[in-house]
Amino acid sequence: MADQTRRERLLTFLLLPIIVVAVLVLTGVMFRSSFQLEKLREQSVVEATLLLANEKADRLDKNIIDQDNAVRSTVDVTDRAGFGSRWLETAAIQTPTVRAVFLVDLTAPGHDVVAVASRAPGPENERFRRLCVEFMLQEMKIDVPPYDQLRHLHTAYRGQSYLVSHWQTEHRGRRYLTVVWHDVPRIVHDLFPTLYTDIQQGRVNVSDQDGRIVFGPSLARRGPVLGRQFETTLYKWTVNVSMASGEELAAAVQRRRVLEMVLVGLSSLVVIFGLIVIVVAAAQERRLANLKSDFVANVSHELKTPLSLVRMFSELLQSGRVENDEKRRQYLQIIVGESDRLASLIENVLDFAKVERGRQAYHFAEANLGDVVTRAVDVCRLRAEREGTELELEPLPALGSVRIDERALEIAVINLIDNAMKYAPGHVSVSVHSTPRTLEIRVADRGPGIAAEDRKRIFERFVRGKSTEGKQVRGSGIGLALVKHIAEAHGGKAWIEPASPQGSIFVLSVTR
Ligand code: ADP
Repeated sequence: MADQTRRERLLTFLLLPIIVVAVLVLTGVMFRSSFQLEKLREQSVVEATLLLANEKADRLDKNIIDQDNAVRSTVDVTDRAGFGSRWLETAAIQTPTVRAVFLVDLTAPGHDVVAVASRAPGPENERFRRLCVEFMLQEMKIDVPPYDQLRHLHTAYRGQSYLVSHWQTEHRGRRYLTVVWHDVPRIVHDLFPTLYTDIQQGRVNVSDQDGRIVFGPSLARRGPVLGRQFETTLYKWTVNVSMASGEELAAAVQRRRVLEMVLVGLSSLVVIFGLIVIVVAAAQERRLANLKSDFVANVSHELKTPLSLVRMFSELLQSGRVENDEKRRQYLQIIVGESDRLASLIENVLDFAKVERGRQAYHFAEANLGDVVTRAVDVCRLRAEREGTELELEPLPALGSVRIDERALEIAVINLIDNAMKYAPGHVSVSVHSTPRTLEIRVADRGPGIAAEDRKRIFERFVRGKSTEGKQVRGSGIGLALVKHIAEAHGGKAWIEPASPQGSIFVLSVTR
């Protein structure tokens, strides 16, 4: 017992706080790692954005260079007259942003344009030719080898942006420069949207060397932006990619954090609740174990006492030393009475065992409850007389028949009368009352009554009343549990009337 209490205390005062602390530590660790994960996630957002910006810039370069190569493979520097005729055939499909191709003779003193192939003839071409010869050639670094390398010039004149691709070719001792004029407005209006449509709405724009946006929306309100200059072609311009917007990211992070917090909180609650349930169940189990061992002791005592009485009086009779018939009859009555008690106790225990195992099979049949109660009272009458208790059965009302298990109800009533005679000898009255939906059997005594704290408890199995303790009244603590079970099996209840001024009134109800 002492060992058990110590163990219980250990569980409650040491183990429980340790487990709660462990749960709290675990929760803390989970929160910290969730914050760290969040940081990592943000870092990877930066990396992913950078990757996206690089990829976007490279895409444009690749597209322009592919077009340049297409031009290079189709123009013929050896044939000035038919210089760009082959290119023009496929120009619209293969090189959509190329407006015209010029052939410049670098060996001639004035660096003259010797051939032009244009998709749209007109004064624009002449303007470009002049621009090219007068300004662009100086910027193109045409004297820097390797001459045949494909190069690009991204420049601006009078507020207009120009992109040209160029390379040199030698032919019969002369150096020729092929200049490919890319239509920048067309790149912006046609190429950029096709290159950048797969991107999440509004996350990319292109700005010029002065920071003016030439394509896409302003990213100023979208939080941090990563930019990368185009490497090869429109190298004065920058492609900008906004990171998943700060607010969006913050909101998503916040949402996830709240969710994680709720989850962690809930699981901690479940763990703590589970622990409490385990502790309570363990305490209950221990209480029940104690009650059971008390029960065994009580039942053994209950069996032993009548047995020793039976034995004692049988021996007296056997010895032939009992003088008169009156005494002999008295002894025999005691023997019969005690045997009855033994039998009813054994029956109670057996019935209770069945109830405990859920095997109590009730056999319902139409019967008159009044007859059952009368029989139960008759069974107890002999003992009542012997013990000097006045056992009274009040006149029964007209009851009709109800579906009941006669045997079970008889046992229940006997138990109630037996208790009354045991704990409140003197006067016991039994009555049956009829209500619209139930029939109630009442057993009233004029004894000490039931302490308030015992009223509910005593219907539990193995529980004996506090007031009974120390009074040496024999009992096992299963009688009322059995009564309750039988009442419930009949759709009714068993209870103690609260307002009994003196003594107690036990009521057992069955539904009609
Ligand atoms: P047992 O009588 O074997 O102890 P029961 O389940 O029949 O077990 O009764 C449980 C407890 O209820 C008893 O121990 C006793 O304290 C109390 N009790 C039952 N009937 C009465 C009564 N008529 N008057 C006073 N106390 C009673």
